[in-house]
Amino acid sequence: MSKKVPLLIDGEFVASSTSNWIPVTNPATQEVIAEAPCATQSEMDAAVASAREAFQTWKEVPVSERARVMMRYQALLKEHHDEIAETLAQETGKTFEDAKGDVWRGIEVVEHAANIPSLLMGETVENVARKIDSYSYTQPMGICAGITPFNFPAMIPLWMFPLAIACGNTFILKPSEQDPLTPTRLAELFVEAGAPKGVLQVLHGGKDQVDFLLDHPEVRALSFVGSVPVAQYIYRRGTENMKRVQAFAGAKNHCVIMPDANKQQVINNLVGASVGAAGQRCMAISVAVFVGKAKEWIPELAEALKQVRPGAWNDEGASYGPLISPQAKKRVEKLISQGEQEGAQLLVDGRGCEVDGLPNGNWVGPTFFAGVKPDMEIYKTEIFGPVLCATEVESLDEALALVNANPFGNGTSIFTANGAAARKYQHEVEVGQVGINIPIPVPLPFFSFTGWKNSFFGDLHAYGKQAVRFYTETKTVTARWFESDIDATGPNMSIHL
Ligand code: NAD
Repeated sequence: MSKKVPLLIDGEFVASSTSNWIPVTNPATQEVIAEAPCATQSEMDAAVASAREAFQTWKEVPVSERARVMMRYQALLKEHHDEIAETLAQETGKTFEDAKGDVWRGIEVVEHAANIPSLLMGETVENVARKIDSYSYTQPMGICAGITPFNFPAMIPLWMFPLAIACGNTFILKPSEQDPLTPTRLAELFVEAGAPKGVLQVLHGGKDQVDFLLDHPEVRALSFVGSVPVAQYIYRRGTENMKRVQAFAGAKNHCVIMPDANKQQVINNLVGASVGAAGQRCMAISVAVFVGKAKEWIPELAEALKQVRPGAWNDEGASYGPLISPQAKKRVEKLISQGEQEGAQLLVDGRGCEVDGLPNGNWVGPTFFAGVKPDMEIYKTEIFGPVLCATEVESLDEALALVNANPFGNGTSIFTANGAAARKYQHEVEVGQVGINIPIPVPLPFFSFTGWKNSFFGDLHAYGKQAVRFYTETKTVTARWFESDIDATGPNMSIHL
């Protein structure tokens, strides 16, 4: 019998009373390893009631005590790092190394949340008028919620709830129904770290559970990460309901390769950035833009991609795992066929990929197209599979025009030995996260994760100072203390201080 994933409501891990369960499968075998409940109306109501009550006490807990919960939490996450990564690898199919990276990038955010006292500091100005001072505080908002995707089941929940909770809020997490075991383990360790009852709730399910959070008047702020159509839906419905919303969406990330770059570094970096994690990363490089003579490296890149193979999470020779579901595999293979029909040169074909002993896995081999044009479906769509598209241009200006015409703006990178070219690219490119000789420029938590255009809807981004702004209200105080009655000089009829 497969494991029934519990809900976390009011500090207890409880079995849902729902009759609607979603199977969680091992994508390398299709074996059902667990079932996730679609939380019922009364379970969702209970989660909100508990989050409301917990907020009244949690917001009064001194900030250094809140920080200490995060210190204990990051220590526990480190202690259980490999065990979490193993659960994560089994339900996502990621290789163990990659799964460990997913957990680690989340732990870094918790370490950052442990610095919450200094992050919450407000501003002060003395003597804004005679004997009058002004200062500001950041105060928590109340109940915040987060809806997360399948592709980083540790890192992305950890982008959200530790910072929101460290700010003094309570939080309701609705993880992806495709890999709920990892977020559930994160929640267990959070409770073990001493998080008071009700500060974090975990509700599982799909659209109905998301709609509940979008419509509930007491949910003040909502963080979302996932695909573009769902991000747009969430941003529209959430803001229509007067909530603060940040919605991180899909991507089409370009890497510009200048002819003066180091060829071997370019090839090594492009292989990992394009097909690593089976291309199921919002920061994966999916388009390689070869400038001028750099196109001569395309055959060598094709050879390097042919050497890479997928495999099971615990196969040390495997470079990446299966796609998350048979539907995802079917969709990616269909896009590959479409690219071929549209006239792109299929130099490496990953369709029909097989892995010894695992005939039912959602395998797609590394795939590489050259001669890709902007009107082809494989260029326009986020493939979210191990597929790299190469395109050729004659100059850096042409490369910039191509990247800037793309509707997405999550990440990009340039490989060059020329500082002036790198400076020009960094300055002129209309993308929120830029790598210079770095293929996947995901910022560390003291910065923020800053996608642009169709890759992000909202204004304040994830983690860093921006997340603290997102999860708090600012209160400004203007104060005067009278020294004696002489200060009271009669009614002041103007708005001057
Ligand atoms: P998804 O949009 O299918 O699902 C994300 C979440 O939304 C899940 O929790 C799911 O249950 C919920 N959901 C799905 N359909 C819904 C609907 N109709 N109404 C309400 N809620 C719904 O995304 P996914 O397939 O899990 O994740 C992959 C996508 O996420 C890719 O597009 C990837 O680029 C994107 N992503 C973006 C970032 C970023 O930071 N920009 C990071 C990671 C992933």
